[in-house]
Amino acid sequence: MKPLFDPQSLGSPYLVPFDGSFDLAQAPTRMADEPTKKASKKALGEAVERLEELQRKLYADDRYSLLLVFQAMDAAGKDSTIRNVLTGVNPAGCQVFSFKQPSAEELDHDFLWRTYRRLPERGRIGVFNRSHYEEVLVVRVHPEYLEGQRLPRGARDDLAALWRARYASIRSMEEHLARNGTVVIKFWLNVSLEEQRKRFLDRLDDPSKNWKFSAGDLVERGLWPRYMEAYQDALNATSRPWAPWYAIPADDKPAMRAAVARIVCETLEGLDLHYPALSEKEQAQLANHRARLQAEGKQGKKAKKGKGK
Ligand code: ATP
Ligand code: MG
Repeated sequence: MKPLFDPQSLGSPYLVPFDGSFDLAQAPTRMADEPTKKASKKALGEAVERLEELQRKLYADDRYSLLLVFQAMDAAGKDSTIRNVLTGVNPAGCQVFSFKQPSAEELDHDFLWRTYRRLPERGRIGVFNRSHYEEVLVVRVHPEYLEGQRLPRGARDDLAALWRARYASIRSMEEHLARNGTVVIKFWLNVSLEEQRKRFLDRLDDPSKNWKFSAGDLVERGLWPRYMEAYQDALNATSRPWAPWYAIPADDKPAMRAAVARIVCETLEGLDLHYPALSEKEQAQLANHRARLQAEGKQGKKAKKGKGK
């Protein structure tokens, strides 16, 4: 299908190719031309301003919706990126949803069900902090989670086939969304093992950040190579023109946020967004409404004058 927007036109070095050739080991966790903190903050500020205006147009146009998916290892900066990038956006036009371990009700449905219920309406920006991709990431690293999913008998016999089937389901869903007006952009925040170590230590050292740390985080950290394998396969299987992945270097937070904000802005700018235009008949009605309100004003003044006498 023809995507709503061609991601290749951005020329981003972080776009995950659509042909399955993404090599995660080569993906940088720092940008080649490391911008200064000041430059990154300025770039973010500019993008945030542009995004505010673009979101207003998206809302008024009421034809497309934008879905931003964020996936990353712990402490890569998902939450702060979402907060910083969307800081200027009208909260009424934006929905952020964080996906945690599935509830009993969610497990009673297929794995895409809970995602589908949280999709943004037309004119809105929806943000997924973690997403349906957990089903081919954390669940692939912990296949024992599948036991709770009550899949059909035999579904777990060939796990490689199960992940392939899930990629296919995800691709179909995202293509379907694009066909119906949802622009999907997916960000993998690529933090290094060493930077995660530093950030975990920071969470342990700073009492105001202690709550962010859980012992489980270290268990997942210990499974790093398996996560990377799962990420590489998932990104390769699901980066497509209508739902591209961007692998954003995440060791430098300000630079990462600016890069994400820029991609979001440039994608929206590439859409055919318009403020609704009124028909001639509606325009003529505006003149009638105006005349009526003006007449009311004159009558009101007269009445006031009369009272004062
Ligand atoms: P933070 O980065 O602040 O720790 P978080 O996104 O890690 O935030 P947590 O509440 O710590 O939030 O963790 C949510 C957990 O839920 C993650 O470990 C994630 O892997 C897990 N999870 C999300 N979706 C699924 C799923 N479909 N199946 C199993 N586990 C899931
Ligand atoms: Mg966590």
